[in-house]
Amino acid sequence: MATVVFFHAHPDDEAILTGGTMASLADAGHRVCLVVATRGELGEAKPDVLSEGEQLGMRRVMETFDSAAVLGVTRVEFLGYVDSGMAETDGNAHPYSFWQTSVESAAHRLAAILREEQADVLVVYDAHGGYGHPDHIQVHRVGHRAGELAGTPLVYEATMNRDEIVRAMTEHADELPEDQRKQLEAGVEPEFGSPEHVITHRVDVSAVLDRKRAAMRVHRSQIAEDDFFLQLDNAAFGAAFGTEWYILPGMVRDEASPFVSSLVEAGRSL
Ligand SMILES: [Zn+2]
Repeated sequence: MATVVFFHAHPDDEAILTGGTMASLADAGHRVCLVVATRGELGEAKPDVLSEGEQLGMRRVMETFDSAAVLGVTRVEFLGYVDSGMAETDGNAHPYSFWQTSVESAAHRLAAILREEQADVLVVYDAHGGYGHPDHIQVHRVGHRAGELAGTPLVYEATMNRDEIVRAMTEHADELPEDQRKQLEAGVEPEFGSPEHVITHRVDVSAVLDRKRAAMRVHRSQIAEDDFFLQLDNAAFGAAFGTEWYILPGMVRDEASPFVSSLVEAGRSL
């Protein structure tokens, strides 16, 4: 059995991006740990969620513990950096923000957890953090360095499949806002995720979709109960969230060959 550590930037990233993989690994008897860099205190709270004077970051910590319980996560750790906010906002310059911290010092803190856990697998983000959020880019940098320091055998990058997003957008082109439709027609690639040819792993999480949805639902400060995605029927929710994508750097997947379907089968048994 393997120990798999997921390193995320903010509360709710774990549920949306890798929640199905976490639940599937836990179901299979692997030890699943979650490390979150920040408390996501610069997120925008949905109306009427926080009580008078309640701090968003504290609420999001509690939501993360609830989400972890739903997903079968055994250990949750927060590194406690300050949320840096979206790209090019004032939060990026905050001296205690995750974006401003030294990669080396943050990596040592994550590496200490990896060593303690004797982690077999670490999951971080792709080089632009999926969509360019500074904290997500920092997860990529810090995560890889921590994996190196701790000698973690397998370090994956969670991502989204850009080609699949383009295919879905093309299929629903009529429903897109005009600027997005024009970009699509002009062949401008969206900046989300990674191109399919660099993706090596495709994890089908349809068997644990209920728990992925339940984990998203407990992040109430960010995802309202009447949220468009939470309201989708199972088929539509599965189309949007039923597959999770990963890159194993250094692994070359010949485009004709299938994706690997599990993070603990990378040509070596754990
Ligand atoms: Zn995030």
